[in-house]
Amino acid sequence: MKEIVPGLWDVDEVKSFVSVHVYLWRWAEGVTVIDTGTPGNAEIILAGVRKLGLHPSDVKRIIITHGDVDHTGSLKALKRATGAQVICHTVEMELLEHPGRRKPARTPLGLLLRPIFAVMMLFPQFRVEPLTPDRTHVDSDKLPEGFTIVHTPGHTPGHISLLHPEKRFLIAGDAIHNRGGKLGAPPPLFTPDVENSHRSIWKLAKKYGDGIDTIVCGHGDPIPSGGQARLNGLVETLFEAEAKA
Ligand SMILES: [Zn+2]
Repeated sequence: MKEIVPGLWDVDEVKSFVSVHVYLWRWAEGVTVIDTGTPGNAEIILAGVRKLGLHPSDVKRIIITHGDVDHTGSLKALKRATGAQVICHTVEMELLEHPGRRKPARTPLGLLLRPIFAVMMLFPQFRVEPLTPDRTHVDSDKLPEGFTIVHTPGHTPGHISLLHPEKRFLIAGDAIHNRGGKLGAPPPLFTPDVENSHRSIWKLAKKYGDGIDTIVCGHGDPIPSGGQARLNGLVETLFEAEAKA
């Protein structure tokens, strides 16, 4: 486990077919888990909770940034082990209740891959157990952990990022990634609304950038400081490309 900022931990022991992050946020009432990795990681996440000197019953809430297998894979098992409340965006509830509705985008390659993707979802490492969240939220809602919900659609319709204005960090989910130290937009193959995903990055930078120092993503290394400048840099690149298109 790695502490990114005081109280925010990256459970880097998570094992997966794709490198993905699960975060623990320690706050007054216990610990909140943000995303759950691929299937089979519940025990690893709970081992992380124990490393903080806490028990599974101290996990009060699980927040899901979006309904992809690498973020919801261990959700049901973790819910069973902890009894925690599960929280997501109102629009994303559909993907938690019907994981099979998540499909590659309607691009030529995406359409070609759809049947393969459907078969893959039958294998245990890709199979997500459906679950109905306990609470859903919309843009700008404030959560007891200190987070403000930022609706960042595009990669999925109900994708959210979590901003902690007081501690000045952003848990971006897959709204952006930092693979290879380079900030980027979510992959078009799994982003049904690419244009909206770019608008979401613009929103993070322009509406909330002033309050962001640290950024952590679902994929790629954390950005310990200077998050606002990095976001602005990405916005310039994305919209310069759009202007030329
Ligand atoms: Zn992901």
